[in-house]
Amino acid sequence: MQSLATPVSPEGVSSVYGPVTSWRYGRSLGIDPIGAISTCSFDCVYCQLGEIERKQRDRALFVPTSKILQDLQPFAPWQVDVITLSGSGEPTLALNLGEILTQVKALTSRPVGVLTNGTLLAEATVRRELAIADQVAVKLDAVSAAMLRRVNRPVEGITLDELWQSFCQFRREFAGRLSVQTMVLTPWSSAEQEQYLAMVRAIAPDEIHLNTPTRPRPLRHQLEARGNHPPEQPEYAVRYLKPVSAAVLKEWGDRLQAATGIPVYSPPLPPSV
Ligand code: SF4
Repeated sequence: MQSLATPVSPEGVSSVYGPVTSWRYGRSLGIDPIGAISTCSFDCVYCQLGEIERKQRDRALFVPTSKILQDLQPFAPWQVDVITLSGSGEPTLALNLGEILTQVKALTSRPVGVLTNGTLLAEATVRRELAIADQVAVKLDAVSAAMLRRVNRPVEGITLDELWQSFCQFRREFAGRLSVQTMVLTPWSSAEQEQYLAMVRAIAPDEIHLNTPTRPRPLRHQLEARGNHPPEQPEYAVRYLKPVSAAVLKEWGDRLQAATGIPVYSPPLPPSV
């Protein structure tokens, strides 16, 4: 169900942040179409936003497009590699997603990307709006229902099979650059690796990003953690997750690339990992 709720973003909070340096996308200016209250259909255990404050799958209007365009003005002439919609939750929940993408592209003449958990991709309208982007990264952290519940903690009604089928459908419709982003929390068994290989072969993304949580996770939502870029020494309560080792990530990435022919990238990990 969709609702055109009153926008909830307070005027004082800018919907544009950065630019941040992304290990995969270069210099990236962030747009937050969600606003001050973190809102997502997942509540991932590693989320840099902390515990998600508003868990929902219904789309709504959070930040008016006019405010986003206004917040972009101080960043002109937008000398960045990409403008990325991510921010304080799941960007496809924003009912004005298509309008934002169209108008930001027209205003800035920069490539625009979206980081999404893909939970709304079963909806043709969302796929159509998302396809306006130049690049899209979808999240695929789980290869079983149990792993989805444990890692992504979705709102009720989201199944792994539906997610995967809708990713494949989106791939067929999307002419831009599609990445699959996967966070590895523990080394995967051979059976889990085989299942993942089958799933990504069917999705056929242009590239795969393998990562492991190396940054502290805020316990509560912090606006400065938007775009997965929290400070190294935060002044708020955080929890440290145990990442897998760089060797485990590399071995799995090499195997994945050899088996699928799809380029696999991982960020440089701190020496302690
Ligand atoms: S990591 Fe992304 S998908 Fe997961 S809870 Fe945070 S905002 Fe939502």
